[in-house]
Parts: sequence; structure tokens; C-alpha cells
Amino acid sequence: MSFQDLSLAEQLTLARRGTAFFAQRLAELTDAQLSEPTALEGWSRRHLVAHVGYNAAALCRLTDWAASGVESPMYASAEQRGQEIAEGATLSAAALRNLFTHTVARLDEKWRNLPASAWSAQVRTAQGRTVPASETAWMRTREVWIHAVDLGNGGRFGDFPGVVTDSLLADIVGMWQKKGLGAGLVLEVDGCAPIAVQEHSAPTTKVSGPLAAVVRWAAGRGAVGVNVEGDAQEPPRWL
Ligand code: ZN
Repeated sequence: MSFQDLSLAEQLTLARRGTAFFAQRLAELTDAQLSEPTALEGWSRRHLVAHVGYNAAALCRLTDWAASGVESPMYASAEQRGQEIAEGATLSAAALRNLFTHTVARLDEKWRNLPASAWSAQVRTAQGRTVPASETAWMRTREVWIHAVDLGNGGRFGDFPGVVTDSLLADIVGMWQKKGLGAGLVLEVDGCAPIAVQEHSAPTTKVSGPLAAVVRWAAGRGAVGVNVEGDAQEPPRWL
């Protein structure tokens, strides 16, 4: 079962569950702990919370685009996106928590009010892919579940609903394939047939283990609970 096979209502429910999962982890952190570093290079938890908030705002712009037909990109530029996060990270803890709550509510409202016909309107992601507006459900789902783990206070890939984990693996491998990355890499999830990322390349690295651990590794979140045999110890970039 993949995320894309679910009804829109089910997809939005998984995004909201991920938001609740993130919100719970965030609520368990003290204001002082927000200033501590994450495993994401150069980012404290403040950067991460600001990013997750601004991501919701950016997805609101995509739903506006879908509803109006007037182009409204997620971010003006990569620089603007980076600067916004850097500035957001300097907000007070209370303001950061508000930013998260407020942007989440706004995105939810945009989703609730998007006319049925607008969900298939084509919009462009920050990576330059053209996708239907319904893809915002997956884009947000991916963000909130993974970044809840990035908060680094107990969230685990093993906590994700199975359909999210399955779809993450398919998304990551699909993206590598599209970019021509991952030659020689074979992923072997326990109990599943091995996946050769680039079908016609000779295998050089095998990464095996339980699904959640393989997905965690593939998403660039560390080799924990996986067995890596061969050369490449780091996964190719995904997003
Ligand atoms: Zn992100």
C-alpha cells in the first residue's frame, strides 16, 4: 500500500497525525532545549522548528496557486528560504512555538477550503518538480514525521505508520533513480526482495535491516540498526 493509493482524506489524516507527533515531541522540550543542536548540519532545534513552520506557510502558497491559478512559488529563492530560517531561529521560544501552531492551522484551513477541482491543478515544488496540488499532503507528511525524529528527543522512524515508511522508501529510491544516483547500491529490507537502485549497475554496497532502519539510513539519518556491506557508507542525497 502506498500513500498515493489512499484517498485524499486518508492522506490528510496522515499529515495531521505527523503534525501531532511533531507537536508532541516539541511540547516535551523546554525552551532552553530548543537552542540545542540537531543532527542536521548547522541547525539547532530552533532552526528546525522555524523550518517546519515556514514549510507549512510555503505549502499554503502552493494551495493558493492551485486555487487561483496565479503562480505563487513555495520560496522566492533558495537564499530567501535559508535567510527566513536563520532569522526564524532567532525568535523567542514562545514566538517559535506560535509560528509552528499558527502555520499548521493555516495550512489545515487552506486544505479544508481547497475546491475539489483545484487539487489536481499543477504547481511547482521548491525542487522544481511539477506536481498536482494534492502532492502537498505527501510533502507535508514527509516533513513532519521525519523532522519530528530530527528534534532528537525520542521520535523514531519505527513510530511512523507503515504506509508512510513504505512510501518514504519508494520516494527516496525513485528520486535517486530520477537523478541517476545510487549506482551499485542494493537495499535489502528484512522479508522483502532486494532493491537494486540502478538496475543495470553491478552491486557494490548492500544495506540491509528492518524497514524503519533502512528508510532511516536512506533518508540520511544515520546507520543505526542496518548492516552496511561494501564501499559507500553515506546514502546519495535525496531532496
Ligand atoms: Zn524539511
